[in-house]
Amino acid sequence: MKYKLSLKLAVTYLFTTIFLIITMVVITNRTFEDKFKNYIKNLQQEKNEETVQIVSNYYKSVDGEWKDKDLEEIGINALEEGLIIKITDIEDNVIWDAMEHNSGMCVAMLTEMAINMKKYYADFDGEYTIVQYDIIVNQLKVAEIELGYYGPYYLTENDVDFLKAFNNIIILIGLIAIISSIIIGIIISKKITKDLTNTIDSTKEIAKGNYKYRIINNSDTIEIKELIDAVNNLAKKLEEQEQMRNKLTSDIAHEIRTPIATLQSHLEALKDKVWEISEERIISLYEEIVRISEIVDKLSDLENFEKGHTQLNKTKFNIKELIKAVILNFQKEALDKQITIDFEGDDLFIDADKNKLKQVLVNLISNSLKYTKDNGRLKIKLLNKKTKYEIKIKDNGIGIPKDNLPYIFDRFYKVDKSRNRGIPGSGIGLSIVKSIINLHGGEIDVESTLGKGTTFIIILPI
Ligand code: ADP
Repeated sequence: MKYKLSLKLAVTYLFTTIFLIITMVVITNRTFEDKFKNYIKNLQQEKNEETVQIVSNYYKSVDGEWKDKDLEEIGINALEEGLIIKITDIEDNVIWDAMEHNSGMCVAMLTEMAINMKKYYADFDGEYTIVQYDIIVNQLKVAEIELGYYGPYYLTENDVDFLKAFNNIIILIGLIAIISSIIIGIIISKKITKDLTNTIDSTKEIAKGNYKYRIINNSDTIEIKELIDAVNNLAKKLEEQEQMRNKLTSDIAHEIRTPIATLQSHLEALKDKVWEISEERIISLYEEIVRISEIVDKLSDLENFEKGHTQLNKTKFNIKELIKAVILNFQKEALDKQITIDFEGDDLFIDADKNKLKQVLVNLISNSLKYTKDNGRLKIKLLNKKTKYEIKIKDNGIGIPKDNLPYIFDRFYKVDKSRNRGIPGSGIGLSIVKSIINLHGGEIDVESTLGKGTTFIIILPI
């Protein structure tokens, strides 16, 4: 069975709050009633003792001469308090018995008490209770008094009204709490599910290919906020990838179109005999074909690196020797441009793919030589930093503008094409370098100041 989240949330919330509110109402009610019963019992006890005191005081005031008139007054007063009194002297002679003198009133009072109690407690098991006290005057027992009442406690009409009012208030508070919790529950679940359904709708929009779509994130629920951020991020990544794909296609077309167009026009000129076939022309055509095939090779290398299809052929070798060998290969080029190349570094044996690292060094050093003017300087350092080693290639060439730095490792990315005029390059070299370094578990960084020079830093784990 599948349910809507809003329904699940609302029902769970509602059941929990209703359960809590009912428990609270029942506990409050029970506790209050127990306290109230105790209070009434204590009140009864006080009433009894007060009546005994009144009778003792009366005895003292008349010096033991009981008078029916006075006793009747005492008896009626006690009756109004719910007490039926019977006084006997020490010889067991009945001096006053409310049941005899005011039997009608006594019965009426007991009936009223029973009715009151039944009103509040339908199954109340009250009974007529009699307690006995001695009347003590000057430390001597002068009589005995029996106090009869409806016990163990009874509620007057006022008490019953009070208890009912209290119960009604508690029930009212409970009802208000339940209604407010229903409203709050509905609002909260609607709010949560609204954000979720918005996110679901947006993901459908993104899935249709509308990668520019972003969800406005103003949810105040942390998890939903994170979910929206994640979906927006995903859309951004998809958008970037699509842009990259489009750019890649147009870049490939552009890079290959130029040499093919040159080839085509030259071959047409030869076919139409506009040009004479000469060795020089054939070499030029051949060089164009080599250029195209180099670009295609580089692209296929790059694709293999990025897809992880390339296996590293790791061996242990002295990286210092490799750097020195690569520098030696560039000796002639450097000499032609009057560029000095310095190297600093100790022997360092590493476990890596020698050919691929050579390719990295060749790319970076040849770039430095390409983008450094005559009489420039190249400094190459090999540093052992215990957990990693670094190769720094620093030139004092034309530098790279700050805005271009984040993209120079992207495929086909060339900094301002006008400055590269006359300098051959397809913009793939640095992406290959980065892929090889990443395959070795390392990183490559670049620092550059326009007009001052560039430093590439290769960081490889030991
Ligand atoms: P390319 O094969 O065209 O040189 P790369 O991927 O090797 O392509 O380099 C990308 C861009 O980075 C180049 O077009 C160049 O403008 C810039 N670049 C690379 N190395 C340097 C450097 N040492 N100094 C200045 N610019 C550089």
